[in-house]
Amino acid sequence: MGSHQIALTFDDGPHPDSTSQLLELLKKCNVPSTHFLLGKQVEKFPNIFQLLKSSGQKIGSHSFSHLNGWQTNHEVYFEDFSKGNLLINSSIFRPPYGKITNRQWRFIQSANPELKCCQFNFMPGDFDDKVDTQLLKDRMYQVRGGDIIVLHDRPDCWDKYSPFLEQWIIDIRNRGLEFVFL
Ligand SMILES: [Zn+2]
Repeated sequence: MGSHQIALTFDDGPHPDSTSQLLELLKKCNVPSTHFLLGKQVEKFPNIFQLLKSSGQKIGSHSFSHLNGWQTNHEVYFEDFSKGNLLINSSIFRPPYGKITNRQWRFIQSANPELKCCQFNFMPGDFDDKVDTQLLKDRMYQVRGGDIIVLHDRPDCWDKYSPFLEQWIIDIRNRGLEFVFL
């Protein structure tokens, strides 16, 4: 990614009370985004998954049930990844919490040689109860070129960032930054 590019990513979807609104806003602003989905959510909400697939946005796997790699044995972790990716079918993976051991990654990669692991470096904390809309907004304006931003496609998070996301996109572009796929 170039020094004037930033990537917007959304984890934990799909969800009936946030995904379609989010996709609409991104489409309106013509912003590419990458969505790391949970298999358990895809299973529950297949129609919203179809909406995501037909949106033109990029889709990645975020496992089936959002296990913490540091607290899970590698075989269980592998099974959870595999169960998720049977539904999601993507060549990019973001480990839940960003936590995965070397052993778990080697195990997954030996069965999925094409798979790429996608971490992030900018987490403004939309999921955090202590972070309100104003604080989230302040943090998001601190983004810099090269950053990979993680937000969440969940109603509690959407409620926090939706009031300012559109204006933020405009302001960030006015700084000369470009949104790109991860
Ligand atoms: Zn997550």
